[in-house]
Amino acid sequence: MAETYQNSIGGRWVAARGGSTFCNRNPANGEVIGEFPASGPEDVGDAVEAARRAYGSWRLVPAPKRAEIVFRAGELIRGRKETIACAMTREMGKVLVEARGDVQEGIDMAYLAAGEGRRMYGVTTPSEMRDKWAMSARVPIGVVGVVTPWNFPFAIPAWKLMPALVAGNTAVFKPAGDTPESAWHFVRIFEEAGLPPGVLNLVFGSGSQVGDPMVAHPGIQAISFTGSTEVGLGIAAKGGALGKRITLEMGGKNAIIVMEDADLQLATDAIAWSAFGTTGQRCTACSRVLVHERVHDALAALLVERARGLKLGDGLEPGTEVGPLVNPAQVERVHAYVEIGTQEGARLAAGGGRPTDGRLARGSFYQPTVFTGVRPDARIAVEEIFGPVLALVRVRSLEEAIEINNASRYGLSSSIFTADVNRAFAAMRDLDTGIVYVNHGTTGAETHLPFGGTRGTGNGHREAGHTMLDPFTEWKSIYVDFSGRLQRAQIDNATEPGS
Ligand code: NDP
Repeated sequence: MAETYQNSIGGRWVAARGGSTFCNRNPANGEVIGEFPASGPEDVGDAVEAARRAYGSWRLVPAPKRAEIVFRAGELIRGRKETIACAMTREMGKVLVEARGDVQEGIDMAYLAAGEGRRMYGVTTPSEMRDKWAMSARVPIGVVGVVTPWNFPFAIPAWKLMPALVAGNTAVFKPAGDTPESAWHFVRIFEEAGLPPGVLNLVFGSGSQVGDPMVAHPGIQAISFTGSTEVGLGIAAKGGALGKRITLEMGGKNAIIVMEDADLQLATDAIAWSAFGTTGQRCTACSRVLVHERVHDALAALLVERARGLKLGDGLEPGTEVGPLVNPAQVERVHAYVEIGTQEGARLAAGGGRPTDGRLARGSFYQPTVFTGVRPDARIAVEEIFGPVLALVRVRSLEEAIEINNASRYGLSSSIFTADVNRAFAAMRDLDTGIVYVNHGTTGAETHLPFGGTRGTGNGHREAGHTMLDPFTEWKSIYVDFSGRLQRAQIDNATEPGS
């Protein structure tokens, strides 16, 4: 029997006010694995009110003490890593080894964010006046709304919520409808770690019924969103018009450049991992390879052989290399793109369909797919597919590859395979993406470096790394005058014209 779950509002586990629920299904076999509240605007209102009330005292808890709770949460996550990873694989399909990595990111982030509680440095600077002190300090924003996607259902909430809480904010968290159980584990752990009631509130439900009301709610001062570009830009327009701080992490169309001097075996390993890992549903997934014409055919042969050999299956079963897509709608979307690619004249060299054999036919599986001879402006080389579909584009030079990469609407990650250090440095300088890899695939970000992208991928913010507090803090400048008299800046000690 599927288990029933509830929202967490003000420290209590409660059903949606309207009483509606939705089912969470396993994409490997369609089975129902949980029933969750289908909440609405009134539940958002309750959560915001709880967060607002908790803010008054949470912001006054010393930052090192707030951070200790985050550290304890990290310890609890570590102890429960396998349970959470299995739940994640069951609800969104990625193979267990990758689900473990997703949870590990949460652990890494907890330890990193906890350290911030004892740093959170401000800046002191000399005043231009005598007997006056000047400094600036980070302060929390207030109640923040966190809206997350299903592809990294533990890591992404960790990147956002851990720094937000360390900084002294309270939060309303809406996870994706496809991955509610991972979010439930996250919030449950924070409760056990000792987070006071109302500091972190969890509201399950859809984007339209929960996410959108969060963006509109006057009691939420900032929204941190990761998801599709279309939804993100809508949130930016609506939230921006209300004067909110909006932090966006959105789509990607990540390219790997393979030069003629590259180690092709290494490039094949990295491309297969970047393109077909998480069934192509990472924001940093490699979906296009810009390959030098001299090695195009050799690399294509290696990639086709690799794609055909990957073992599809339930991610919980040992030996599975590629799990299902997250849901049937995603299968339709991916297949539609494969048809577009074929119609556009690209050569379908591997995959291109749903497996029909045995138990795979019951799940949302799709064959790892490789197109060769793809034009750089073809839709499959330009638009985010979010599935296991790889397009090989032939290039004649590094300059051409960089130009194609930088013409993309997106700018999350990119990579170059080359043995030439001069080319590697030129690529590091000229590739216009938030993350650049050399002789490594497009995935594999570590939590202690800033994460985010340029152009259509983001709106100028970076999560994690030394920048983790930026989306969740304001700067307050403080002046202390200890002269005992009126001192007028810019006036009393101004340089007179001609003096
Ligand atoms: P969506 O944009 O569809 O959804 C993301 C979240 O937003 C979900 O929780 C969704 O709710 C919610 N949502 C949907 N509509 C609204 C709305 N009008 N107002 C507020 N919230 C809303 O993206 P996906 O979940 O499909 O995730 C895939 C996308 O995420 C890809 O484009 C991928 O590139 C991107 N992504 C980007 C990353 C990055 O760091 N740059 C990292 C990971 C993913 P629900 O689905 O429950 O209805």
